[in-house]
Amino acid sequence: MGFNDRGNSFRGRDSNRGGFRGSSSGPREMHKVICSDCGVETEVPFKPTEGRPVYCRDCLPKHRKF
Ligand SMILES: [Zn+2]
Repeated sequence: MGFNDRGNSFRGRDSNRGGFRGSSSGPREMHKVICSDCGVETEVPFKPTEGRPVYCRDCLPKHRKF
């Protein structure tokens, strides 16, 4: 107890619903893409760039060598 009393403000997650305001981390818009590696259909929270490969969650780590 006590933990919930503090910090449980109105700025919590509930205010995230249908908000168009959020500057950097705006509304979650998922885009359906086909993984360039395994070919599975997946969704990414960003708009895929044409011509650039997009990977699913499983394949993404394999291609992240940066
Ligand atoms: Zn994949």
